[in-house]
Amino acid sequence: MRIILMGPPGVGKGTEAVLLAEHYHIPHISTGNIFRELYKDNTDVGKIAMGYIDRGELVPNHITNEIVRHRLMEDDAKDGFLFDGYPRNIEQAKAFDHLLKEMGWKLNAVINIAAPDEVIIERIAGRRVCETCGAVYHIHNKKPKREGICDLDGGKLVQRADDMEETVQRRLRIYCDQTAPVIGYYKSKGSIVEIDGTKSIQYTDSTIKKVLGEMN
Ligand code: ADP
Repeated sequence: MRIILMGPPGVGKGTEAVLLAEHYHIPHISTGNIFRELYKDNTDVGKIAMGYIDRGELVPNHITNEIVRHRLMEDDAKDGFLFDGYPRNIEQAKAFDHLLKEMGWKLNAVINIAAPDEVIIERIAGRRVCETCGAVYHIHNKKPKREGICDLDGGKLVQRADDMEETVQRRLRIYCDQTAPVIGYYKSKGSIVEIDGTKSIQYTDSTIKKVLGEMN
């Protein structure tokens, strides 16, 4: 199964991506997570990327596309993958098409989880992530067993620097200007599934699995 998961920042893509990747036994490839890992590992590219991320801007395409190319060459991606947070503009979508063609691979589905700005802002304001493993929680919708502590490794739950309100507004603007057109791009190819992202995590998950089951 080769899937792209799209949607505005904070809509629940990351949470859903983990569930789908487990279900289909495919790697969850989040460009945001890769950049954060590269930063944690003290690499130059990680430091450059984090400058853009903290400001709520997109990391330049030449860096992002190169990182995706490398990731797709890894062994675990040969039988399928789920992309979360990529492609995020038309140039990335075209570069990804090119790369897939080169590999002789076709996408099974492009899924767009949609929600209005008010819902997004509320979700991001309540989002907390584990400082050590990056697992994602929400103070109302996805509470950890112990407040402020990660269920998986006991790490401290913190707010991401780019989840502060002003930065979120910038991310939403960039989403609207640059990422929303990518939905149109895939629509014109006739390959997008629209999902209502305003409901529960369970609703989103079961709806996506049902649609994918019917398609493939
Ligand atoms: P969210 O989906 O909530 O915005 P991500 O973890 O996907 O969170 O992305 C965080 C940040 O990482 C983005 O705001 C951007 O700066 C950077 N980033 C992630 N994916 C890409 C991409 N495909 N192109 C450029 N920048 C990216």
